[in-house]
Amino acid sequence: MRTLITSLLLLAASPLQAESNWFTEALLNRPDVRKALSSLDERTIVDEWVRLTEMPAPSGQERARAEYVRAEVEKLGLTDVRVDEMLNVSGVRKGTGGGASVAFVAHTDTVFPATTDLKVKRDGNLLRAPGVGDDTGNVVAMLELFRALNRGGIKTKGDLILVASTQEEIGLKGAKHWLHHSGYKPDMFVALDAPSNEIWYGALRIEMVKLIFTSPSVHTLFSRDEPTAAKAMAKAIEAVYDIALPERIEGIGGIRLPTINVGMLGGGTVLNAIPAEAWFTVDLRSADSSTQERLRAAIVEAGRRVADEQRVGFRIEQTVAAEDYSKALTKEQRLNHPLVQTAIGTFNHFRKPGSPPVIPMDLGSTDANIAISLGIPAIAAGGVLFSNPHQMEENAEANSIVPGVRQLIVLAVALTTH
Ligand SMILES: [Zn+2]
Repeated sequence: MRTLITSLLLLAASPLQAESNWFTEALLNRPDVRKALSSLDERTIVDEWVRLTEMPAPSGQERARAEYVRAEVEKLGLTDVRVDEMLNVSGVRKGTGGGASVAFVAHTDTVFPATTDLKVKRDGNLLRAPGVGDDTGNVVAMLELFRALNRGGIKTKGDLILVASTQEEIGLKGAKHWLHHSGYKPDMFVALDAPSNEIWYGALRIEMVKLIFTSPSVHTLFSRDEPTAAKAMAKAIEAVYDIALPERIEGIGGIRLPTINVGMLGGGTVLNAIPAEAWFTVDLRSADSSTQERLRAAIVEAGRRVADEQRVGFRIEQTVAAEDYSKALTKEQRLNHPLVQTAIGTFNHFRKPGSPPVIPMDLGSTDANIAISLGIPAIAAGGVLFSNPHQMEENAEANSIVPGVRQLIVLAVALTTH
């Protein structure tokens, strides 16, 4: 964190940064922008936020939310409104021409099963419910951004594309499909999938593999001294956790990288025999490709070594494949891009009084990762403040959505009118 702050201060002094920050105070005084900024009504927005949060949307079952968003997008008068085969909803707010196109993307799915109690509980300014922040608050902020642009009568040069993506939580699948098959290739990509005081301009490397051990399934009475997949699995889990990790990188909210986590384990079908198969999954995450590749090789090698020692069969299945980041822009290109610099300028103007400056992080684990892998300048940002995502204790600050949408309005205008 410290080195990041230092490098940001150095950048602030460089002319490059000044040129690539398209946020200006003058923009805030444009009558159409002022009209849009003052058009937000917290109570109306929060009502919609609560309604949408209470609509179940586990990954792959986003239909109700997708239909809701489609209806709202049609009211907005966007062109080329589509719902694709993965239930991604998109629409375009046409620009007058000559400016960059920007996609704003928020995901409709949540990590919570359909049976989860999603009733939103008001606790002063806090809204408490699973999924209220990640990413329901941002879906609502995205809709309100486009509504406010209309209310202000704002004309942009570049197109603004709204995308409500699906299956984000199970591998960024909806956004990946949209970027590869929609025919759209936005000049910039903003994943609204972070709290409104964060800017992520990198892409966390993520890969998940399943290590499977196999052995003849003999009855317990004949099992003494025989090879067993169960023991191999146990020893391999230990070996995976014994892999020496490089010095850790700390991110916002207690993130520590790189990290290896055994998330699922299983095997065996009867109580009284050696399991024919025993397996576990590994979730591997690093800040850069070379660390990721080295650790992946070490995990596979640990599994194979244990299997050989234990005289059992061994194979690997890829559960979540690694993205190919060979086309990604360099760290300097990404950080110095007007998208990131304009977001920093804008978000610092709108940040909660008394809160620390917004520091961009060279990480990310959102739909923006897919755009980054394709060489498209991309960030993850947001329009609401929330805590404890992916937990039953998830909560969000009701009064954060108006300033959050305001910063998105100014960001959208700055990026598409330059
Ligand atoms: Zn999310």
